[in-house]
Amino acid sequence: MNQAAKNYIDDLLYQSSRLIGVDFLKLLTDTFPGQVTFSSSFSFEDQVITQQILNNQLPVKIFTLDTGRMFPETYSTWSSTNAAYNTTIKAYYPNQDSLQDFIETNGPNSFYESVANRKQCCFIRKVEPLQRALKENSVWITGLRAEHSGDRKDLPLVEWDESNQIIKYHPLLHWTTEEVKQYISANHVPYNPLHDKGFVSIGCAPCTRAIKPGEDFRAGRWWWEDADKKECGLHEHQPPSSKEELSTGVIIK
Ligand code: SF4
Repeated sequence: MNQAAKNYIDDLLYQSSRLIGVDFLKLLTDTFPGQVTFSSSFSFEDQVITQQILNNQLPVKIFTLDTGRMFPETYSTWSSTNAAYNTTIKAYYPNQDSLQDFIETNGPNSFYESVANRKQCCFIRKVEPLQRALKENSVWITGLRAEHSGDRKDLPLVEWDESNQIIKYHPLLHWTTEEVKQYISANHVPYNPLHDKGFVSIGCAPCTRAIKPGEDFRAGRWWWEDADKKECGLHEHQPPSSKEELSTGVIIK
């Protein structure tokens, strides 16, 4: 990855206080040509960012992590997004040998049996493919919002991801849920219909459920685990000391 990109953090933090939205995205693509990438899970937030990137023809590489266990509605949203913007969102897949070994040893639904199995499944299906997707890039755009969890309230718009050696930019960090919904509606952005059925954070089908009004944003993910273990390693804010630690992650998505 690109350690030299770290030197830009202070200046980008300053610029992020002056420029917003598409203007800051343009600054990033001008500063790091061919090295800006965006990971989409087709969530409300990610659909807003996809629309902004593609409608403004910004040279940002958009990708998704196809875990193989996503909802049919998520695949439909992926398909309708490709059609709406006449694009092809690239997918990264789990390493076949790792996945086969894991399932042969533990079975297809072992994530319900232990936190260790669940984290290993997340590592194989999400974290390792993400590492491949981020390789050779300098900037990773995400759809994180401060409202998503207490851990994210103090996040800066731009930060250095030591684990992945990459700059992270969270353009919707300070947007409210209502602002996201209004943008989706006003701009006719295709979105995952599960959002209309009480799903807020949509991940893999076996590990995601709808939440009730007033429940925590994360209550629909890995609901059978303690709240402090709900993590998959996509968004870490501490450097892992080993592959083992990396595989168990620190911060949720
Ligand atoms: S969310 Fe569930 S199915 Fe998806 S990678 Fe993690 S443990 Fe596996």
